[in-house]
Amino acid sequence: MPYAYDDQNIFAKILRGEIPNDTVLETAHCLAFRDLYPQAPVHVLVIPKGPYVTYDHFAAEASAAEIADFTRTIGEVCRMTGLRPGDGEDGYRVISNAGEAGLQEVPHLHMHVLGGRVLGPLVAKPA
Ligand code: AMP
Repeated sequence: MPYAYDDQNIFAKILRGEIPNDTVLETAHCLAFRDLYPQAPVHVLVIPKGPYVTYDHFAAEASAAEIADFTRTIGEVCRMTGLRPGDGEDGYRVISNAGEAGLQEVPHLHMHVLGGRVLGPLVAKPA
């Protein structure tokens, strides 16, 4: 069962309003909020409201409306935070970690939108 969803994960609790979050944007199908432990001056997480574990899960099972909203919400977060190239901060990185190899901590799909500084190499070299 690669797509078994645990509804006790922390982002499910945020979506149910059980724990607070610093919301940047909410849409019909998505929530964008600031990461509690930011890795860059701008670090926003964009999550679908539906119970999807990973990007591949979402791509396989989400509706066209959910996929369009997720994609546009990520773009809107880049715009709202001034990260679009030419807008001020001059660029960003969008990352989604999945599973053990990706070091995914929270098993609810999220896109990290990072920017506000030069972000360095895409992946760390193995120690
Ligand atoms: P990942 O390792 O890709 O699963 O990333 C999970 C992210 O969630 C990390 O960057 C954490 O800092 C962040 N995080 C964990 N708990 C919270 C929370 N309550 N509110 C906002 N961000 C959180």
